Amino acid sequence: MTPFDTDLFVIGAGSGGVRAARIAAGYGAKVKIAEEFRVGGTCVIRGCVPKKLYVYASRFADEFAEAAGYGWEIPEKPVFHWRSLVEAKEKEITRLSGIYRANLEKAGVELIEKRAVVEDCHTVRLHDGRKLRAKHILIATGASPVMEPHVPGIEHAISSNQIFDLKHFPHRLLIVGGGYIAVEFASIFARLGSAVSLCFRSDNVLRGFDQDMRKGVSEALTHAGVAVSPGTLPTRIARHAGGHLEVTLSDGRHVIADQVLIATGRKPHTANLGLERAGVELDASGAVKVDAVSQSNIPSIHAVGDVTNRINLTPVAIREGHAYADTVFGGKKIAVDHHNVPSAVFTTPELGTVGLTEEQARRTHDVVDIYKTSFRPMRATLSGAQEKTIMKIVVDGETDKVLGVHILGHDAGEMAQVLGIAVKMGATKADFDATMALHPTASEELVTMRTRTERHERLRAAE
Ligand code: NDP
Repeated sequence: MTPFDTDLFVIGAGSGGVRAARIAAGYGAKVKIAEEFRVGGTCVIRGCVPKKLYVYASRFADEFAEAAGYGWEIPEKPVFHWRSLVEAKEKEITRLSGIYRANLEKAGVELIEKRAVVEDCHTVRLHDGRKLRAKHILIATGASPVMEPHVPGIEHAISSNQIFDLKHFPHRLLIVGGGYIAVEFASIFARLGSAVSLCFRSDNVLRGFDQDMRKGVSEALTHAGVAVSPGTLPTRIARHAGGHLEVTLSDGRHVIADQVLIATGRKPHTANLGLERAGVELDASGAVKVDAVSQSNIPSIHAVGDVTNRINLTPVAIREGHAYADTVFGGKKIAVDHHNVPSAVFTTPELGTVGLTEEQARRTHDVVDIYKTSFRPMRATLSGAQEKTIMKIVVDGETDKVLGVHILGHDAGEMAQVLGIAVKMGATKADFDATMALHPTASEELVTMRTRTERHERLRAAE
């Protein structure tokens, strides 16, 4: 007789946990999954999905303005209703959360809508003190926003968890941070009508992305009316009687804001989960340390998704969850390949990227060729919009292999997804050149950039 109540207990019903639970159940495992908030996790409830819906909402502002160039007369200044957007968003994520829930049920997974913590390597403790023995435990608790820097008054600020559901539209918004979340919300709220200030500690936004793209995003934000302040952080936040906030900045300025959004990163959600007590090793950031098949140092405990702080993206968590179930319950040992993962930053215009940046390639390859172009997209001609599209292909100058592609422009995320296939297959620049252009598109530039813009050769030490 089995000493276990269940084969698998998953903590966290987000993208990674739900996928692992369903696939494991499909292999015949008895599976339970616990969720303390809402089924669907960060991506569905307060991340990628509502963010993209708000991006779509924000882009109408440009489209109304540009329509005149195409012969449309917009009778009056369009009016945006924040509460209508929040309600429509809520309806959609409730629908999606329901689909996640239905899929779990269909797969025969038992959903426990309460917090669960680890007691030991085979035991989880539920909210009511009940203990369950599980043959395997999967930690899929994701990550949560950090509220840094710790300045006086930080308790008046909000994180990305709250921004989607603000009761009142923030007419003046100060955003702290220069990463994905900060720039995406700066771009969204500036278009929805906020006066947005963006401050961050380094010299430019989006550390780790290609330099030309970082510069392009920063210029696009400025063009959208965002007051961009590199090398600047708040030193104090004070709430005034009228409800508004006064933020003192490190450069001595004072900014008045209705809301201050802190977007200075996220940390793995492992606090008070009982992991240390069970002997699970965490790294300095609090992430569960795992091997290639997501196993921790305790053989019965695995972890997938943001809680492992590998690549913190939804599709990666889903792959990790699926591979975990295949490995542990399906008898197929599958390690997720974390190379050449395409990603996008949904500013307007958006940034799509796959593979190495120019800077990374120059550090790891002896000869690097750069093909770069910058142009005004066709749709901007009649509208008179000033935006630019930037494309860059990074090529190994010795093998002709395409190492990375970076695009700032309309639908760059869509392009990056498709380019991901070519880069993953090891396409060469000659393969790009041999591909017929599709006219008229912006992406045809990717196969018509024939002239090398730069060649970088690493100096080899004389033997
Ligand atoms: P990021 O790690 O992308 O950016 C954090 C920003 O905060 C950086 O500008 C960083 O500066 C700054 N920062 C970090 N610590 C401090 C501090 N103590 N004081 C002041 N500034 C600080 O985090 P995000 O919160 O924007 O996003 C978290 C993760 O969520 C991303 O890494 C990404 O994986 C995921 N995500 C993905 C999206 C997408 O795919 N479109 C959208 C949103 C999130 P510096 O650069 O100097 O380190």
